[in-house]
Amino acid sequence: MVASPHSLLIGMLTGIVGGIMLGGFSPAMGQNCEFIGELFLQGLFALVVPLVVSSMIVGITSLGDIRQLGPLGFRTVLFFLSTTGLAVLLGLILVTVIHPGTPIAPSTMETSTSFMVERVHDKPSTLIDLFKTILTSLVPKNLFAAMAETQILPLIVFSLVFGGVLTTIGEKGLPVIRLFEGINEAMMAIVHLLMWVAPVGIGALIAGRLGEAGGFSGFWPQLASLSAYVGTVLGALALHGLILLPFILRFLGKRSVPHYAKAMSTPLMTAFSTSSSSATLPLTLESLIEEAHVSRRVVSFVVPLGATINMNGTALYEAVAAMFIAQTYGIEMGVGETIIVLITATLSAIGAAGIPEAGLVTMVIVLKAVDLPIEGISLILVVDWFLDRCRTMINVWGDAVGAAVIDHWEDQQKNTGSSSTPPLTSHP
Ligand code: ASP
Repeated sequence: MVASPHSLLIGMLTGIVGGIMLGGFSPAMGQNCEFIGELFLQGLFALVVPLVVSSMIVGITSLGDIRQLGPLGFRTVLFFLSTTGLAVLLGLILVTVIHPGTPIAPSTMETSTSFMVERVHDKPSTLIDLFKTILTSLVPKNLFAAMAETQILPLIVFSLVFGGVLTTIGEKGLPVIRLFEGINEAMMAIVHLLMWVAPVGIGALIAGRLGEAGGFSGFWPQLASLSAYVGTVLGALALHGLILLPFILRFLGKRSVPHYAKAMSTPLMTAFSTSSSSATLPLTLESLIEEAHVSRRVVSFVVPLGATINMNGTALYEAVAAMFIAQTYGIEMGVGETIIVLITATLSAIGAAGIPEAGLVTMVIVLKAVDLPIEGISLILVVDWFLDRCRTMINVWGDAVGAAVIDHWEDQQKNTGSSSTPPLTSHP
């Protein structure tokens, strides 16, 4: 039995409010409850690999004609790049207008770089390095190692090739396709089960993290000390998530914004509490197919790809943070530097993994590209866990809007009669 969307929404909201109250007023108790949230998180992560592989294979085999993948992939990547670029632009406009950073004397600055040295060790630090890392990671050296490390991009590539090949071997491929359809259904059924415990899980995660920050009395001063910066990031995320993306959803996706937002409320709240688009992926897939009624073949291709490469919130945040660091260090950013920030933030968000605080690491690429001090990251570290939650929500919302738009384009394509080959599988 599936929880009704309405009762689930109320449950999730109650979980979030309960978690905030518990962690805020009783930090120790909040931290004690965190393990319950961890259990929920592990449950979600356990589903990511089998879901990505099975839904990709089912999606690809249901395309009918594998040649359709080219235009679909091209449109998807183009759409993701455009919305990410727009998000960055919005962030840059806001950070320039609000100017949250006031120059402070170098002697009063935190100059500890040990945190970043530790985090950035072995990570790509230039755009060329990043490109190389992404390109080499597309082909898994060892499929099982990629699964064990939840590397989604190489799994997507493998599943695309595997699914594509299955459609070319006729009768022999059918039992394998049926097998993956069964695996996919079973995984979705487990996602339904997990939804029952989602309110408790997300509440415990929030209580635990807020408890770790010292409850309300520890968290407010941190927030207040960076209020202009936090306000700029939140303002830009809100403009993107509440105005720009809904506008795209309405006019390019032809969807009712309130209905779509309601259908996506569970993954959005899960994104907020887990800070991970990868962990949220099972719920994003489920809600898009079951609640928002986006076609399975589009969702199964667009959403795993989106959870890996489409990070509107992360890109926006990286641009705002880089400009804030420049402002605080009193470094003048001209038009040329600002354009470099726009491009590098858009591209480095593609390289960020869908896990907590991954954006903080890829931000090094943006800072290096315009010669900003990497240790500037320590200025914003203390509030990053909170902003991470907010930008992860926008990342997931961006994927969901992308799925609606691509679905609408695919429908139009079908109606103009360009798809002729019937799908190999029974899925819509
Ligand atoms: N936590 C984000 C995500 O999973 C990535 C980031 O911005 O750090 O989407």
